Amino acid sequence: MAEIDLALSPSPRARVMAMKEYHPPLGNRAALRLDFNENTIACSPKVREILGQISAGALTRYPEREPMEALVASHFGLSAPQVALTNGVDEAIHVLFEAFLESGDELLLPVPTYTMYEVYASATDARIVAVQAASDLQFPFERLCAAITPRTKVIAIANPNSPSGGVAERAQIIELARGAPNAAVLVDEAYYHFHGETVIDLVDTLPNLFVARTFSKAYGLAGLRIGLMIGSADLMQWVRRVLSPYSVNSLALACLPPALEDAAYLDWYVGEVLAARDEFERALDAARIRRWPSRANFVLVEIGARHAEFVQAMRAAGVLVRDRSSDPGCDGCVRITVGTREQMRHATIALNRTIAKLRDRGEPQ
Ligand code: PMP
Repeated sequence: MAEIDLALSPSPRARVMAMKEYHPPLGNRAALRLDFNENTIACSPKVREILGQISAGALTRYPEREPMEALVASHFGLSAPQVALTNGVDEAIHVLFEAFLESGDELLLPVPTYTMYEVYASATDARIVAVQAASDLQFPFERLCAAITPRTKVIAIANPNSPSGGVAERAQIIELARGAPNAAVLVDEAYYHFHGETVIDLVDTLPNLFVARTFSKAYGLAGLRIGLMIGSADLMQWVRRVLSPYSVNSLALACLPPALEDAAYLDWYVGEVLAARDEFERALDAARIRRWPSRANFVLVEIGARHAEFVQAMRAAGVLVRDRSSDPGCDGCVRITVGTREQMRHATIALNRTIAKLRDRGEPQ
């Protein structure tokens, strides 16, 4: 075997060396999955049916995504050039940052928020300007407005936000978009279905607004990796230059029409989660566990100094939850996804037992 001449291998650019590898804890998840905010049951049976009908011949062909972009556009009452399908919202974030951020630019990020914004921003030469929320973890609107500069090129807002479950108001988003006309304002509506409020209708009037949606959450298709981004036709052409034409696979494309059509399934799942969230929040209150009000399919709770032990004990009881203690402003916090009422009753029993054990051993709460 020929020896590799290290002198000839490309040396990584400084910004690649500055990036941290991100390894989400996806191993050993054969339990009740309340750790990644996924759908905890299944996708629509109509989607399963279509998946079962995909032929070997269909798999030999490269995926063609334009027809599906036209379909999604008509679903939202938009034109096809305003819509790009992506390999999950993650790819939408990645290409948006690649298209709009360069050296000397600033990304404005209310924190705590979704981890991947920072990961993808670190792949650019832009500076991250993190704007910390107060201890109520509400959207730090005033501080964000004050942090806008002529260098602000992207503002990324998860709405609802993760891990807090808090939301930005429509009027606040409008004011930010108008106040930062040189910036792409990304509103990531990954958890839209559990909140019910959108700003998609504003893309025609706010030229710098981008809205992202995913099929990973309410639709139950996280494994297929499909999301979308909506924006003004003018600005979407920059995004398309960065976006691979092949990144959304043909299985994901085939599943889009039944997923969008089966509104009854979506309504059922969302209704179930909202009822479960209500019940679960009351159970947390009864157990005197501090929580933040959530408009999404998860709840952030404060466990305290023994958060890691709590997460381990819950795992031992068959319930996976996510330690968010290292998120800015989230010391001692754990995020718990909300599934169905039956699943959350099971989770509540495990949680009450775990908390009782921690308190017996003197955990200050
Ligand atoms: N945005 C937010 C706010 C999220 O929490 C997540 C997933 N946890 C994503 C985007 C990623 O979505 P996708 O699976 O479509 O990449």
